[in-house]
Amino acid sequence: MATHAGLTAAVRVSGLRRRFGDHLVLDGLDLELAPGEFVALLGKSGSGKSTLLRALAGLDYDTGGSGEIAVPHRVSVAFQDSRLLPWLRVLGNVVLGLGKAGELGRAALAEVGLADRARAWPGELSGGEQQRVALARSLVREPELLLADEPFGALDALTRIKMHELLRALHERHRPAVLLVTHDVDEAIELADRVLVLDRGRIAVDRRVELPAPRSLRDPAFHEFRDLLRGALG
Ligand code: ADP
Ligand code: MG
Repeated sequence: MATHAGLTAAVRVSGLRRRFGDHLVLDGLDLELAPGEFVALLGKSGSGKSTLLRALAGLDYDTGGSGEIAVPHRVSVAFQDSRLLPWLRVLGNVVLGLGKAGELGRAALAEVGLADRARAWPGELSGGEQQRVALARSLVREPELLLADEPFGALDALTRIKMHELLRALHERHRPAVLLVTHDVDEAIELADRVLVLDRGRIAVDRRVELPAPRSLRDPAFHEFRDLLRGALG
């Protein structure tokens, strides 16, 4: 298992195997992401999406596995729950571990529209606001790669739409490579440059999203792509 930097790709995975007991979850998976590419990862529940994400994030110390993974130095990870520390104020969460970075933290909070909540406690924020703080916490670290595991899964539909807009805007501005795990086919098509489907331990579908902007459910090509992905998801 090698993890090294100095890459031309933002992610390079080859022959990745991960097992839990005798359940082989990832079975020789290959994957490459270009710098700045926004990629969505779909797959049935239990197909191994989170396992792959944890492997890329270096958080899979309890699994047996083999294969090669190369990721950049600066990787941020976002989960369904924001994982803010409740005993730190919002700004403290954003700049945690960065030393004297208050100004950067405030700028990041302004970018996610929460400039006025720097001194609030995480528990005083809504779920959507907490996820925006989590995005600010990621951004302030200027990641070359953002790994996100169903970050909007717990949000209501309207908040989710706002978060989509925000994530797209932040991606445009900062251009990290993004690997977004989602079970929402429409979310994948709306946001990503490229959509993957994980099945039986490998990438079974790998398609660029070539739809005119703004991507709209009114576009018949949107529906065609959605049908293709739904077919692959079974
Ligand atoms: P997904 O995120 O696609 O829903 P996961 O990566 O969470 O899937 O899980 C893939 C498979 O690995 C599932 O069958 C799950 O039960 C199993 N698995 C995941 N984590 C563990 C673990 N820590 N111990 C045992 N089995 C696990
Ligand atoms: Mg999962």
